Amino acid sequence: MSSLSGKVQTVLGLLEPSKLGRTLTHEHLTMTFDCCYYPPPPPHEAISKEPIMMKNLFWIRKNPYSHKENLQLNQETEAIKEELLYFKASGGGAMVENTTTGICRDVQTLKWLAEETGVHIVAGAGFYVDATHSSETRAMSVEQLTDVLINEILHGADGTSIKCGVIGEIGCSWPLTESERKVLHATAHAQAQLGCPVIIHPGKNPSAPFQIIRILQEVGLCLIRRNYWSLLNLAVTWNMISLVMNSFITN
Ligand SMILES: [Zn+2]
Repeated sequence: MSSLSGKVQTVLGLLEPSKLGRTLTHEHLTMTFDCCYYPPPPPHEAISKEPIMMKNLFWIRKNPYSHKENLQLNQETEAIKEELLYFKASGGGAMVENTTTGICRDVQTLKWLAEETGVHIVAGAGFYVDATHSSETRAMSVEQLTDVLINEILHGADGTSIKCGVIGEIGCSWPLTESERKVLHATAHAQAQLGCPVIIHPGKNPSAPFQIIRILQEVGLCLIRRNYWSLLNLAVTWNMISLVMNSFITN
């Protein structure tokens, strides 16, 4: 993509990499996390459906994944705006927002946050883990999934003209499911065509990142190309451990 080569694509448009400033490469500013809901034991079932209140705050902190509303991380946009302003005041410049289809990516809100705060925000294209794949996603061929990814980067995501700037985070479980394998194949095809950065969330097994890298390479993703138009080459994270990160390679 010659017009994108050497550039970063934010939700407000193309940017010279030198304008990014200090950048956080894996954040979620607005998302939902219902896929990680963990039912509490029977005596506590009622609490899991209560609104968040002072009287249940301690319980929610102890059981963050067992409280329905606590997994709705898209309700407090004003608070997120304030946090971004603190980030900027402390020297921050940009964030890569890794929320993909399945956990409620909201590019309109990301654009609003970027406009309100002046922090550069890069949105993520693609699909989260299998548990969040819709029947429509599961039914897609690799070619159709590839078209979705390319469209989200070249034309806009979620029915808007707001474009993503990375593929990811692509969600993988352990063991890898059939639907996730198709998404990985599509990721490699799209990356090979666009030369864009890719961010993967591997399943929780030490072998997962290496299996994923093998699949991506077999299908055609280039791990060492240096003519990218955005800020990351390839970032593979396993939980909070960054295993491979060739950041900020732009040409
Ligand atoms: Zn994440």
